[in-house]
Amino acid sequence: MRRLLPAPVLQFINTVAFGRRSAPKVFDFRGPRRVGKLFGVERVRLSRAPRRRGASTLSVRHRICELKYLIVIFSIIIAVCQVSCGRRAENAPHSGKLQVVSSLFPLYDFAKNVGGDRADVSLLLPPGVEPHSFEPRPEDIIKLGKADIFIYTNNYMEPWINDILKGINNPGLVIVNSSKDIELLKEEDEEEAQEHGGRDPHVWLDLTNAAKMVDAICDGFVKKDPVHKEFYRQNAESYKAKLLALDKKFSESLAGCKKKIFMSGGHYSFGYLAKRYNLRYLPAYYGFSPDAEPNPKDLIKLSKELTRNGLHYIFYEELVNPGVARTIAGETGAKLLLLHGAHNISRDELDRNITFLSIMEHNLENLKEGLECR
Ligand SMILES: [Zn+2]
Repeated sequence: MRRLLPAPVLQFINTVAFGRRSAPKVFDFRGPRRVGKLFGVERVRLSRAPRRRGASTLSVRHRICELKYLIVIFSIIIAVCQVSCGRRAENAPHSGKLQVVSSLFPLYDFAKNVGGDRADVSLLLPPGVEPHSFEPRPEDIIKLGKADIFIYTNNYMEPWINDILKGINNPGLVIVNSSKDIELLKEEDEEEAQEHGGRDPHVWLDLTNAAKMVDAICDGFVKKDPVHKEFYRQNAESYKAKLLALDKKFSESLAGCKKKIFMSGGHYSFGYLAKRYNLRYLPAYYGFSPDAEPNPKDLIKLSKELTRNGLHYIFYEELVNPGVARTIAGETGAKLLLLHGAHNISRDELDRNITFLSIMEHNLENLKEGLECR
């Protein structure tokens, strides 16, 4: 019978599993023995248990027995792996790094810049998911139950915030409302204002607001880990300097543009950006549901508005089918440009390590083109 395992391995298993060095007869390791000559060459065969009655049955038993050994050894390996993997998972929150969870992409990027190598930052929104219709899942609640810091935008962006916090049993969790020091703008549309409580949640699209959000996030880190206060403060200052330098670049670049008005085929999200840089902004619709679409009458009205303002470009938003912008572009001959709201990023963008700053740099380039800047 051909063995499934080499003899030394079987001997080791015998010793470990059955506590004896001598192998049972079915695994006799007495070494090779001569069995005669063939064409003048000595033939040898590995020793095996003496052949006896029912040997054919015994061969089957040998195989079954070896399979049992295999099962024993694999069970041991799996058990060891499970224990060690389990320990790793248990240890993750105690790896020495702060476990930080953020709701939207900008907060995720801000927290990574503030926390540096002292924090493991994760994003609650899965890549590519539209944020306004996002509802936290049971696994998100479990995740927050183990976190040190949770960062959200504001109650208008995450209207589920109070419900989810009620369901979390984590007294040590530091909760950061990153818009706490920002005056939220009223929604432009009266009807929508009444329906949603009347505030525009897209604060991060004004880069000076983004800097205030970094401060709020930094406060959260300091509260949770005061020993490393200086580390977080320095990181925050360094990142805020980049945000404010880009804000300056926006102001300078957009000051001399031929157009001071732009149209987006998406939901109302660039109110803060428009206000900051003295621009007029025409969204395809007010409110914050990117699933909503203007009716044909609205599309005709928007197309006329685009033409009346002499605009040659229409912007479309990220993660949503640019059908509205494309229809208006088709009607008017305008060209399409992306204006990324940075709420969330796609899987592809995540793989490319895209950053909030790079998104805003790209937005500036497209705005310069769309507004026909000199
Ligand atoms: Zn939005």
